[in-house]
Amino acid sequence: MDLSFSEEDLAFRAEVQDFIAQKLPAELAEKVRLNKGLSKADHDFWHAQLNEKGWLAPNWPKRFGGAEWGAVQRHIFEEECALAFAPRIVPFGLAMLGPVLQKFGSQEQQDYWLPRILNGDDWWCQGYSEPGAGSDLAALKTRAVRDGDHYVVNGQKTWTTLGQHANMIFCLVRTNVEAKKQEGISFLLIDMDSPGVEVRPITLIDGGVEVNEVWLTDVRVPVENLVGEENKGWTYAKYLLTHERTNIAGVGFSRAGLDNVKRIAGRAMSGGRPLIENPHFAARVAQVEIDLMAMSTTNLRIISKAAAGQAPGIESSLLKIKGTQIRQEITDLTRRAVGPQALPFVSEEVESNIPLPDAFDAGAVAASYFNNRKLSIFGGSNEIQREIYAKQMMRDAK
Ligand SMILES: Cc1cc2nc3c(=O)[nH]c(=O)nc-3n(C[C@H](O)[C@H](O)[C@H](O)COP(=O)(O)OP(=O)(O)OC[C@H]3O[C@@H](n4cnc5c(N)ncnc54)[C@H](O)[C@@H]3O)c2cc1C
Repeated sequence: MDLSFSEEDLAFRAEVQDFIAQKLPAELAEKVRLNKGLSKADHDFWHAQLNEKGWLAPNWPKRFGGAEWGAVQRHIFEEECALAFAPRIVPFGLAMLGPVLQKFGSQEQQDYWLPRILNGDDWWCQGYSEPGAGSDLAALKTRAVRDGDHYVVNGQKTWTTLGQHANMIFCLVRTNVEAKKQEGISFLLIDMDSPGVEVRPITLIDGGVEVNEVWLTDVRVPVENLVGEENKGWTYAKYLLTHERTNIAGVGFSRAGLDNVKRIAGRAMSGGRPLIENPHFAARVAQVEIDLMAMSTTNLRIISKAAAGQAPGIESSLLKIKGTQIRQEITDLTRRAVGPQALPFVSEEVESNIPLPDAFDAGAVAASYFNNRKLSIFGGSNEIQREIYAKQMMRDAK
């Protein structure tokens, strides 16, 4: 297996670097680097830049306005964006709903919703989880009852990321209470401006608000907003999750984070010497660097398989576990490196655009450490990934 990049790949990497250098304003990259909260306008700006270039939807087919890149190009693009501190593209419309509509949506739904996703006309959020339905998603209770040309929806969604900005939510709802739980679920597109939709913010451990509860009370949803067939939503939901778990290793984010740890630890003093010379700290940095190198190779191996047309299998569970452990360890090392300057709730510093007064950009370090605890929970918790991986290994061993 050849894991080196071809001449075309290297030329593509240079083109991406060039594009980012031209289009990404330094202040915006700085906000991302320092983990300051991005506004809706920040997200919309970067979305528009990529759309104009035709690079907004790397995995969409060209006939839907996508770039139709292969696995290697996607990997290079994601890595360069992370290293340059470009805003992360909000995945709900582009990476999740788009592929579902392309595979299971009606012609009318494709013609109407897909261009709106690219143009940024709608901000989508994901209404899967409920209190009591996270890992066991099929236990969801939000009910949709047919009433003429509408469904009437009642229930509660939770952990809805960036729902405060959204005008549309794709929801899993129960349309049959008699059937086996996976067989009574449907996939509905709900306008968040409809009467009966209420978004309530949840404050996270870092003091920020990025997730919400979404309450649905007698919300009337036109039947044309049903995707695919009634009670077949579980199939579409699972298809969407395979797209949710792309770029799961986050190699670019970890490389940027590790560079930052080394930079800080080279200047922060401990016992009269730079912290990086402390054997205990240096050993942890070395270990996480080795883990990152090993994971990058595994990631490239999987990408190379995907480029050769083989679907990634249970290795994506492995990448999710290892990738999130590495990112969490890096945020822990950063927090330790800045020491007492890593104040947890300095919201003025986290949110403002004012340059931070201290030498280590420490304002958002603790907040980032706390925030990144989420990585091992969402997108399928690490415990669940271990279960998936172990079951498959045992099946293969039989
Ligand atoms: C920051 C953040 C953003 C999110 N954004 C969204 C979003 O936009 N839309 C959305 O729909 N959802 C979202 N989620 C929800 C996320 O998908 C769920 O949190 C996740 O699936 C876990 O479900 P839960 O929180 O209900 O935990 P539970 O399923 O109750 O699990 C609790 C603990 O028990 C463990 N556990 C559960 N079952 C097993 C088992 N069978 N074996 C071993 N261990 C087990 C879990 O690993 C976990 O540690 C988000 C979550 C977070 C933290």
